[in-house]
Amino acid sequence: MNPLNLHDSYSCPVCRLGQIAALPLMDAMACNLCQQIFEVNLEKQQIKMPSRQPALIWNWNGKHWDSARLEGVELGWGYVFAAIALVLLPPSLIGLVILIHPPTPDTPLAWLPYVWASLGFIAHLAIVGWLVIEFYQFPLGLWFRSLPQQLRQQRIRNL
Ligand SMILES: [Zn+2]
Repeated sequence: MNPLNLHDSYSCPVCRLGQIAALPLMDAMACNLCQQIFEVNLEKQQIKMPSRQPALIWNWNGKHWDSARLEGVELGWGYVFAAIALVLLPPSLIGLVILIHPPTPDTPLAWLPYVWASLGFIAHLAIVGWLVIEFYQFPLGLWFRSLPQQLRQQRIRNL
């Protein structure tokens, strides 16, 4: 266990390759690779990336950073259940209707309820997927953007 302090350097939670170290005379840390600036809160043992609204926060657990979360947003089980309900409820409702009133086979548009149910499922799954990506993949996007920089540093190191 090593508490977060301003004298050590830590692996960067955004690019995961650089090191973040304290900036002189400031309660802030900066990454030597992706140049991200983080506000440091020693009391809460966390750093905040304010360059994005809502800000991203990482907690230091003594060994590594916990996964990022958005400031003021708690992703509890309520959200998980809501997401599952959003994906499963509409197609199951349609499915229920199909079960109760099966479309007469060999009539035009007999296939429509089935397609409708699958489309509903796919559409809602896409919405939830997009939200999850928006929430979790953000650091990954930054990581990709810092890739050219990382390669350049790698080349310098190999020379
Ligand atoms: Zn970095």
